[in-house]
Amino acid sequence: MTKIVLIAGAGPAGLTAALELLRRSDCIPIVFESLDDVGGISRTINHHGNRMDIGGHRFFSKSDWVMQWWRDMMPVAPGKTADGLSLIPEADRHLLVRPRLSRIYFLRKFFSYPVSLSAQTLRNLGVVRLLRIGFSYAWACLFKRKPERNLEDFFVNRFGKALYATFFRDYTEKVWGRPCSDISPEWGAQRIKGLSILSALRHAAGKLLSREGHDLAQKRTNTSLIERFLYPKYGPGQMWHIVADEVRARGGQIHLGHKVTAVQHADGRVVSVTTKDSEGHTRTWEGDHFISTMPISELVAMLHPAPPAEVQVVGSGLCYRDFITLGLLVKKLKPTAQGRGPMNLVPDTWIYIQEPDVKIGRLQIFNNWSPSLVTTPDAIWMGLEYFCQEGDELWSMSEAEFFHFAVSELEKIDLIDAADVVDHHLVHVPKAYPAYFGSYDQFSVIREYTDTIANLYLVGRNGMHRYNNQDHSMLTAKLAVDDIIAGNVSKREIWEINVDDEYHEEKRSTS
Ligand SMILES: Cc1cc2nc3c(=O)[nH]c(=O)nc-3n(C[C@H](O)[C@H](O)[C@H](O)COP(=O)(O)OP(=O)(O)OC[C@H]3O[C@@H](n4cnc5c(N)ncnc54)[C@H](O)[C@@H]3O)c2cc1C
Repeated sequence: MTKIVLIAGAGPAGLTAALELLRRSDCIPIVFESLDDVGGISRTINHHGNRMDIGGHRFFSKSDWVMQWWRDMMPVAPGKTADGLSLIPEADRHLLVRPRLSRIYFLRKFFSYPVSLSAQTLRNLGVVRLLRIGFSYAWACLFKRKPERNLEDFFVNRFGKALYATFFRDYTEKVWGRPCSDISPEWGAQRIKGLSILSALRHAAGKLLSREGHDLAQKRTNTSLIERFLYPKYGPGQMWHIVADEVRARGGQIHLGHKVTAVQHADGRVVSVTTKDSEGHTRTWEGDHFISTMPISELVAMLHPAPPAEVQVVGSGLCYRDFITLGLLVKKLKPTAQGRGPMNLVPDTWIYIQEPDVKIGRLQIFNNWSPSLVTTPDAIWMGLEYFCQEGDELWSMSEAEFFHFAVSELEKIDLIDAADVVDHHLVHVPKAYPAYFGSYDQFSVIREYTDTIANLYLVGRNGMHRYNNQDHSMLTAKLAVDDIIAGNVSKREIWEINVDDEYHEEKRSTS
């Protein structure tokens, strides 16, 4: 008999699960998405024809399965132009191969990332700072902090105190809104395992010695140093729209504007879920399995009957970091940017803003992700990224207030003139980052409880409260489908999946 699989969320994990079920079984997936678009955090926002990527999503994976899956959905564009960029193909359904360049903006100057021992770095930092960094690195190598109790210990052990204070501390604290000494070292291990001064030096030496191109899978390269990646011509949302179309074409259902509000279970099985649509109508749906990509804290709170008190306490204690991105269309950058052409366009895909006197964390240059993201001629379309907490001062600003605040920040650090701003668009992204603090150290309490509900599969980023990228989120969805098809009720493999914990979007470690 045909089985119904209910899925909460039409992000990469939910849509991968839906398509895999349709390809490999006769199950019918019914996907509920609270927003009116697909793609989750990996969606693309269209503002007056200019497209914003929420964060800038590189399509890169060390998993061949994921790379092939993406290529099957959108073939890679053939050919290259003289400047090394892929040709924009005739057909729209192509993945571009993009070069990565991201630099650090600090002391009103650009530093290469990872920081290299170039003449430019020497000039930018000055001899005194460099000597301090060198000595403190040597000191850290000789006298390691043991045990590593927090993220500060983790960084200092690997980079020395001075380099940590120069390039890691302030940025990490901007991202997480708390001192590194309050953050688990586990997060550092997941984010920058494998990146060290030695690996950066080896990488630089390797570049000098090898003239060969890089294999796209780039398996041997530390993921923080990857220089090329795939990217859909119209942004990541294009991939997820194509996947959603195929899900529908194969008979799956996707209900946009439908928020899952309650999950009913009995005798160790989910029996039904209740949804509320954008017009306020509620409906209950019965199914044989339930795949959840919604934030675990929310799932725990909507289980009926309610889980034991200790599970509820851990669920409500999970923390998140939220995110605001402002799309900004400008006529040109200021001379400080030292870019090219009449717009003074810099070559970076994104820039880490290390300046301590502003709150902005990163600056995306969408023109360099894909020229097709920008339809306004002769303009630079940027994404200003702010890490914040839902309800805090930044989050609560009106669009006009935020716009003026953010533009004044870019003016302050000498990157734009307010008079050159042409258009803007503000996007709030709640729960963008599942945090490794709060009740996270008791997470096993939730896992042990939810694992007892045989047909409930927690997958994806917030679905597992893991710092997953798209590839990792997709792989957890694939494993859930494998389990459903095989009738396997153990979730062990899903929890243990390990694509490459080093590769994450905040490469610097955040960075
Ligand atoms: C700034 C930033 C940069 C990133 N850069 C990269 C990158 O370069 N490369 C990369 O691969 N990944 C990157 N990522 C990670 C990527 O965005 C996520 O891994 C991916 O989107 C996770 O997919 P998901 O389906 O698990 O979750 P999500 O994308 O969060 O999708 C979950 C969906 O569930 C919906 N939902 C939630 N609750 C409910 C409910 N109750 N009912 C119905 N629907 C619900 C949400 O609206 C959402 O659409 C980045 C993330 C951020 C924040």
